[in-house]
Amino acid sequence: MIVKRWKTIVQFVIGLLLASSLLVTGRGVVAAPPLQEPVIHVVQAGETLFSIAQKYGTTVEAIVAANGLSNPDLIFAGQKLIIPTGETAETLLSVIVQPGDTLALLACRYNTTVQAIAERNRLINPALIRVGQSLSILTLGPPPEHTQMHIVQSEDTLVQVAWRYGVGFWTLAQVNGLRNPNIISTGQCLSIPLDRASEELPLPFSAVEKMPSPVVQGQTLVIKVHTSRPATVSGTFDEQLLTFVPQMGQDSTYWALAGVDAMARPGSYDLYLTAHDEAGGVTTVIESVPVGAGNFEVQNIYLSPEVSALLDPMLVRDEQLRVADVMDDFAPSPAWTGLFQVPLRGEINISSPFGGRRSYNGGLADSYHGGVDLEADAGTPVYAAATGRVALAESLRVRGNAVILDHGMGVYTGYWHLSGIAVQAGQTVLAGDLIGYVGSTGLSTAPHLHWELRVNNVQVDPWQWTQQIIP
Ligand SMILES: [Zn+2]
Repeated sequence: MIVKRWKTIVQFVIGLLLASSLLVTGRGVVAAPPLQEPVIHVVQAGETLFSIAQKYGTTVEAIVAANGLSNPDLIFAGQKLIIPTGETAETLLSVIVQPGDTLALLACRYNTTVQAIAERNRLINPALIRVGQSLSILTLGPPPEHTQMHIVQSEDTLVQVAWRYGVGFWTLAQVNGLRNPNIISTGQCLSIPLDRASEELPLPFSAVEKMPSPVVQGQTLVIKVHTSRPATVSGTFDEQLLTFVPQMGQDSTYWALAGVDAMARPGSYDLYLTAHDEAGGVTTVIESVPVGAGNFEVQNIYLSPEVSALLDPMLVRDEQLRVADVMDDFAPSPAWTGLFQVPLRGEINISSPFGGRRSYNGGLADSYHGGVDLEADAGTPVYAAATGRVALAESLRVRGNAVILDHGMGVYTGYWHLSGIAVQAGQTVLAGDLIGYVGSTGLSTAPHLHWELRVNNVQVDPWQWTQQIIP
């Protein structure tokens, strides 16, 4: 599904807004007399706050302060910035109070504070201003043309504000320099760039696809980025570094995978995407990825004292580090094509699905099952789920005889508790090649194959890969 923003209903909403004359630009304002016209700079592709500050002989800090930017790294081509040129950049305005105005709204609109307006106008009770009253306001500049100010109400979310004004979610986040667009607070002042209402992603981005939609805990998220011209795409999902590769057979399309942790709190996660184009331009967009709750069972597992000894935290952690270390160094391009194969042949019985919340010996269910358990007799052949390189083939204490395959792009499959191993580390295997035999070695109560899959070192449900062709 291609993400398309704000449909015709938004046009209707904008129509309503215009009809009810909520536009504030220029309304009831007399500049009396301006000390100096503020300089407005339109950001060009490739510019940074530092280069702009140098150009005007000012500082990054002064531009940040004049524009109320909370994240100086987030500026974009086409953005209008007030350039404070020396100490005379402030302008004294005479503003006539309009119906609906409050001091908070005026402070928000003119880039100042309620206290500053109250003091300058000797207002005893800042809550009492009347329509038609003239106020003297010292401002770093009125909002740019086509900009409306919005004060966040208690029930507002950025998505709702974006919808109301017909402006893209990421646009609002960028214009207001929000580091985390999911968190806005009541009373916060947002500038709404109305001239960008119908605009979609900034070039070179033309579309971003996120699959599945919605994604749930423990799934693999596929991110496809379409650009208007060739670019190098990078990004992060919830602080996970993403590896983008060009999509075979499609111009200017790039894809990456992210693992959604099975224990991730359901809610909205940030996807940052950056395109470096050949001309040296750098463009960043922020997308919001809603993560839904998975439907996981709680599993109570009781182990014999001998097997319980394997739950020693030191032992468990050392082995986790060893496995994570093996999975840290991967081939940059995908070795697989099409669906992954279930690693056993014949009738398949899942004795324990992925993600079940696990309580050991009556303890807290604070861990989860990181793979899929397939029921099988000892000695049943185990086959490679997909083409890849053998990254590990050895005996471990908890996982027993183990095989790990590197499929490229940070995708690994693991096969634990084997009775025998049929491959050697470093060897390349094709999808369906024999790699070992089902057993009950390590932390296991009966013969079965524990099959797991990791993306960027996050354990995800391998079953998804047998049902959905990724990418
Ligand atoms: Zn298992």
